[in-house]
Amino acid sequence: MPSNVIVGLQWGDEGKGKITDLLSKNSDYVIRYQGGNNSGHSIHVKNRYFVLHLIPSGVIYPNVTCIVGAGVVIDPKSFIQEIKNLESIGIDVSKVFIEHRAHITMPYHLLIDQYREESLGKKAIGTTHRGIGPTYEDKIARIGIRALDLLDKKNLYKKIQYNVHLNNALITKIYKKPPLSFEEIYHEYEEYANLLYKRIIDSIYRIHRAFQEKKNLLFEGAQAMLLDINYGTYPYVTPSSTTTGGVCTGSGIPPNFLENFIGISKAYCTRVGNGPFPTEIFNQNVNNHIQKKGNEYGSTTQRIRRCGWLDLVALKYSCMINGINCLIVTKLDILSGLNVLKICVKYKIHHKIFKNFPSDMQGKKIECIFLEFPGWKEDISFIKEYDHLPKNCKNYVEYIEKYLQLKIVLISVGSERNQNIIKNNQLFNKIFS
Ligand code: GDP
Repeated sequence: MPSNVIVGLQWGDEGKGKITDLLSKNSDYVIRYQGGNNSGHSIHVKNRYFVLHLIPSGVIYPNVTCIVGAGVVIDPKSFIQEIKNLESIGIDVSKVFIEHRAHITMPYHLLIDQYREESLGKKAIGTTHRGIGPTYEDKIARIGIRALDLLDKKNLYKKIQYNVHLNNALITKIYKKPPLSFEEIYHEYEEYANLLYKRIIDSIYRIHRAFQEKKNLLFEGAQAMLLDINYGTYPYVTPSSTTTGGVCTGSGIPPNFLENFIGISKAYCTRVGNGPFPTEIFNQNVNNHIQKKGNEYGSTTQRIRRCGWLDLVALKYSCMINGINCLIVTKLDILSGLNVLKICVKYKIHHKIFKNFPSDMQGKKIECIFLEFPGWKEDISFIKEYDHLPKNCKNYVEYIEKYLQLKIVLISVGSERNQNIIKNNQLFNKIFS
């Protein structure tokens, strides 16, 4: 198996956890390259659900070494809790490592995230208040605290002192809130350092050596393409590079390590938080059907996800930017029982028709031009062969391929590991075996 990267092609929650889990079985390394504990992957194995936020999904397999890469921001409290949760159910966490260069989320990051969102009122981004944005801001401002700083207490002390001083000015003067105690924060993080020091490594040479030794590497994305800091629906985005391009900067590998660019899309769309969502469904019956059947509630925050029809304008843009050569469609089973399905094929903005995804959606009234497809009644969640799918279901799937000019490799029809339909055997064998 060559090096693979998995990315979500929409606004997140596409079911990346399930696919990462399927691919992890044959992987030696699973590497996270961006995001923080604001994301959540759910994996369903034999009536057990695992929700992972920072630790790569490969942790479920004892053969896999998991690395949290330089592009990730880590809240140590949350990371340690996740390790404990996994240990408590008997999962081996001895091969979970944090890259030296990953940045650390601090208590003032969480508070500033929260205070800023509150002060924005209706214009709030809809963040998870986990401090991810402020952690990346400090990274770019070159004042951030990195995982390797936890290994040097003197240095850690000085850095925390400087940062708390700086952030207290913001907290007290701009947000009019009480200041934080530097001593308390230092002692808290000193304790985290004691718990984590064995896991903090310089992973770069290790990953490169693994590649030279022809080990199987899997790079696991969090959030998704339309939340990318550069190419997403700015400013309603996440502060990291969620694209396949982000793999290189976020894990220290060159682009020519990568061979399979695996994109995951739901058979419809969802979006959690605020921001543009052209195909959003306002028909309560249809919306309820998708939300309830699809269990469309955030795995990190339990927030209700907004539901929409499949948006091929957005999906084509995502596939293009990410160089997707392997497309996986998930949650097709959720659409069973709807009379009519819609797919957005063009946008109309100020009376003009667009097939391209706009660089700015703010303040624009985007109308969707939909094609309608007859639905199907049958439960498809136990179907294993593509040919056994209802005719209308196949029409829906084949239209997606035709529009995107891409072959769908796998269709997921349930949350369990084995609820899949292989659509393209050759590509499936190349990637999954
Ligand atoms: P991720 O962040 O992209 O990994 O997505 P989540 O894990 O937050 O959400 C996906 C949810 O859908 C999880 O609960 C999965 O178990 C579930 N899921 C994944 N694929 C399918 C599918 O094909 N059908 C159904 N019904 N559920 C699925």
